[in-house]
Amino acid sequence: MSRVTRATINLAALKHNLAVAKKAAPPQKIMAVIKADAYGHGIARIAQSLEEVLTEQDAFAVASIDEAVMLRAVGIKSSIVVLEGFNSSADLTLIQQHNITVVIHHISQVILLELHAELVNNIKCWLKIDTGMHRLGFPPGDVKKMYQRMLNAGVDTDIGLMTHLANADDRSDAKSKQQIELFNQIVSGNPAETSLANSAAILGWPEAHGHWVRPGIMLYGVNPFVKSNEYDVANKLEADLKPVMTLSAALIAVNNISKDETIGYGSTWQCPEDMLVGVVSIGYGDGYPRHAPSGTPVLVNGKRVALIGRVSMDMIMVDLRKQPDAKVGDQVILWGEGLPVEEIAIAAGTIGYELLCRVTKRVVFEYKDDE
Ligand SMILES: *Cc1c(COP(=O)(O)O)cnc(C)c1O
Repeated sequence: MSRVTRATINLAALKHNLAVAKKAAPPQKIMAVIKADAYGHGIARIAQSLEEVLTEQDAFAVASIDEAVMLRAVGIKSSIVVLEGFNSSADLTLIQQHNITVVIHHISQVILLELHAELVNNIKCWLKIDTGMHRLGFPPGDVKKMYQRMLNAGVDTDIGLMTHLANADDRSDAKSKQQIELFNQIVSGNPAETSLANSAAILGWPEAHGHWVRPGIMLYGVNPFVKSNEYDVANKLEADLKPVMTLSAALIAVNNISKDETIGYGSTWQCPEDMLVGVVSIGYGDGYPRHAPSGTPVLVNGKRVALIGRVSMDMIMVDLRKQPDAKVGDQVILWGEGLPVEEIAIAAGTIGYELLCRVTKRVVFEYKDDE
């Protein structure tokens, strides 16, 4: 029997989540963020599926030129915005060839535009302003000058103005308001299109909607808001997001283990009584987080049981005391439908984004569209 470790990607849920983003920011155009292989979901299939429901005015956003070129290669016709822009004259050639829109965030990129005027030829650009995150973008005082230099270099005259919020995922944090106000000051008087909002800002900061919104994680059905150490069910329900990826595996052994025996590497978990222990065909070699501790929830036949012992490369063990009838071959869900990835992320000390991105190549991806 071949291994049954699967990521089932629900494209109907993806489209539903896009509709949630559209509803939260009604007149705004959408830049659907599909970087990092569409947050681990498979960029080609996700882009093709979203393209069925995006309008002609909407766009995709990716991190690199390579990702944009790949999207063109699989037939994506929509606008594609590269959030990190370009780094070389070779990139400029690709940008022209594939009609790619770029974010200009650094003086080195403006200099490249100036040095290679023959390659610029009206390419479409966003200018990124650093309003306080201090990752990418021009300092506020440089914006006018850079905008003018970009125009002089021959880019398309409809330059968009964008920024990124550092703490939008915390609705009680004051920094978002400050960043939004600073951005509004800088762009006031300029008729250019604007964009500030990631998923958290789409749902939590309507004043940051601008002309374009940039939903990423919410498209995949993950709640973008942080809550220190517990999974925030209320926010998810409020936003009505549906998980897109369900990661599943199977029981490959069910064993009786005696009281006081220990489970797995390092003997970190000891049986409090004679008990049934299940072995599941998934491990960190598939992208299940090695740091998930004993107690992390796992669904066996739709019911919660606890992970016990250390996660190994190909397997985990689970406590089957509440499931005496479980048998080899039964289905196990690690996250997705019935078990939010946010909950596993909190248990493993990370965020849903990272778990989704880290599912590895040996997991079989299956796509379904139930609409
Ligand atoms: C990744 C990214 C987004 C999407 O963020 P989510 O939190 O996933 O919605 C939006 N804008 C920029 C600039 C990004 O890098």
